[in-house]
Amino acid sequence: MTKKLNRFNSYIYSSLILITVLSTLCNKVYGQSVNSKNPPNFVIIFADDLGYGDLSSYGHPTIKTPNLDLMASEGQKWTNFYVGASVCTPSRAALLTGRLPIRSGMTSNKVRVLFPNSVNGLPSSEVTLAEQLKKVGYGTACIGKWHLGHKEKYLPTKNGFDYYFGIPYSNDMDNIAKLKSKEEYMSFWQNRDNIKTENFNVPLMRNTEIIERPANQNTITNRYTEEAISYIKRNKNKPFLVYLAHNLPHIPLFASKEFLGTSARGIYGDVVQEIDHGIGQIISVLKEEGIADNTIVVFTSDNGPWLSFKTDGGSAGLLRAGKGMTWEGGMRVPGIFWSPAKIKPGLISDLGTTMDLFTTFSAMAGVPIPKDRVIDGIDLSATLFENLPSDRNDVFYYRGTDLFAMRVGDFKAHFITEGEYGMFGERELHDPPLLYNLSQDPSENYDIAENHPEILVEIKEAVKKHESKLVKGKDQLVDRD
Ligand code: MG
Repeated sequence: MTKKLNRFNSYIYSSLILITVLSTLCNKVYGQSVNSKNPPNFVIIFADDLGYGDLSSYGHPTIKTPNLDLMASEGQKWTNFYVGASVCTPSRAALLTGRLPIRSGMTSNKVRVLFPNSVNGLPSSEVTLAEQLKKVGYGTACIGKWHLGHKEKYLPTKNGFDYYFGIPYSNDMDNIAKLKSKEEYMSFWQNRDNIKTENFNVPLMRNTEIIERPANQNTITNRYTEEAISYIKRNKNKPFLVYLAHNLPHIPLFASKEFLGTSARGIYGDVVQEIDHGIGQIISVLKEEGIADNTIVVFTSDNGPWLSFKTDGGSAGLLRAGKGMTWEGGMRVPGIFWSPAKIKPGLISDLGTTMDLFTTFSAMAGVPIPKDRVIDGIDLSATLFENLPSDRNDVFYYRGTDLFAMRVGDFKAHFITEGEYGMFGERELHDPPLLYNLSQDPSENYDIAENHPEILVEIKEAVKKHESKLVKGKDQLVDRD
């Protein structure tokens, strides 16, 4: 009897130990997030066409970004952080759905992004991060550039956002000069007198209404910041998601009077410094309202710099090429995570992508990931909270619906390369693929394919596995009025 009782007691005792260990592990990995009664707020700040080398903390010698630099030192600065595509529309679809854009049909080989005469947008069957967070009562706001369909049924308010304020596509669209030929286009942009906000007849919308056209882009960055702050103040008593997608520093470049001429880098630097200043204001408000400790702020960019605009375009720093291309400069971007009480400070060289925000923030809010589709995002919580290694070991570099390159661990194989905007050459197929060790050669200068056939075999196997299960979405970009 005593023996039985002892065995029973030891059974209970070991179970208790197991439960304690499991719950400590869970807390370690997920912080206060799992089943939390107080889920964190999320602020995602997404710059447009800002390159890997355009912040002081990422090495720019003359652009001053003290607020982002402070976030990077108090939080985590990621040096291998990627977008889902090298141009606006597919990159935004990837961030908001946690899926490679080829799955949603938000990428095409016929046209690279949505235009003002496009008829479609993000299919309603896609689940956005905003829709995920709404399931557990978050307030959700989209402020800034949307670019996932400007017809009413595709707007942010139909995709899980309670509130929208912004320009629904790129700030260089609706050009009143109606440029037809390449020559007209080139001469328009070469004359600086043409770069006036009234020459771009883009609409500014509040929810589903156009409230200003052309949008005054001289003040747009500051107005986006003010909108974000106002939304945060109005919604501070419940969990919220603010997706603040600045239209700038995509060309044409505009800054408020207070920022014009403030940067030695020129107008591009003025614009980035105005964005940085606004981020500082948002951080201050989070602190003043007493919600900074329970808010996670992320800063990143939708793709690399638009290099053909020379000094009006940004810099990818030591990375090769820029926007529109599958070289590193097109798809590796700054990635800064800040949350004083949650994020463990550090310099993170593990792999992460904007698609991972979908999965990570869903996990932190306690929302299950949809099971009826492939989600490419992975949960980065363990890295963010504990500096544990990221579970991500691969990156896919699609251009349209073609897989141009794949990274596995340190190594990246290019199967196809192609320049864009008249730079970096024509389309080339590579067999054997080009192979680079990105940890040792981030600039992709030294092809090591000949010395490492075994790595190429491994990457090709990974591609085969990926493609065997791939279901391509119907092209949503191709149809235009
Ligand atoms: Mg862009």
